[in-house]
Amino acid sequence: MKIDVLTLFPELFERFNDWSIIGRAAEKGIIQLNCINIRDFSTDKHKRVDDYSFGGGPGMIMQVEPIYEAIESVRDGNSKVIYLSPKGELYNQKIANSLSEEDHLILLCGHYEGIDNRIVENYIDMEISIGDYVLTGGEIPAMVVIDSVTRLLPGALSSSESFEDESHFNGLLEYPQYTRPREFKELEVPEILLSGDHEKINKWRKYESLKITYKKRKDLLLKKELTEEEKNMLDEIKKKEP
Ligand code: SAH
Repeated sequence: MKIDVLTLFPELFERFNDWSIIGRAAEKGIIQLNCINIRDFSTDKHKRVDDYSFGGGPGMIMQVEPIYEAIESVRDGNSKVIYLSPKGELYNQKIANSLSEEDHLILLCGHYEGIDNRIVENYIDMEISIGDYVLTGGEIPAMVVIDSVTRLLPGALSSSESFEDESHFNGLLEYPQYTRPREFKELEVPEILLSGDHEKINKWRKYESLKITYKKRKDLLLKKELTEEEKNMLDEIKKKEP
């Protein structure tokens, strides 16, 4: 997958591109991450990219032309242009899954008070918000999108890692996990995990996954279609943990 990030701060992505699963995916050619400095497209002799808001008000707005030129410098027939914005669709695993099917993402990062709205209205395909709060720029949200999408691309995770069981992938939170030592300050690991009986362990994990989702995120259960087995487990959980 090709990913072009349009930003005023390309240096923020230098370490990110080498980091962990992203770095491995970049090395294997699973992603080609490229940063474009929007300032390079300024025609102003001082390389300005922002100006005052028409109508008045505090703060500066990123101008339409440099952003337009930056988008056009990388856009082709298969590109999906995404503006990271607090006004966008609230990001979740489902959106990450669907973006992982794309060939080319162009991630536009705003700064200051935001960008000229003519870009939003005419030149982008999607607006994504990573949460109901305001950040200084779209760079951290862009990293959130890149990280969550890259993990889903074939070959990005090693064979010992997998995203299928992880929280949110199947609409549930993940079951609890433990590692050595078996005992820490008299705190023991659940006995069943040491039993070696994989069928029982899988059942326990499914139960715990439903239980933690029921306790912490009932809203997720409302959205999920449960199997008969899961429904029965959930009834049992409700009896025990009203
Ligand atoms: N004045 C704007 C906020 C600008 S914040 C408003 O009130 O809506 C500056 C930039 O940070 C935005 O252009 C956007 O790219 C990014 N940004 C801020 N919060 C974000 C969020 N929750 N999700 C995604 N991008 C965000």
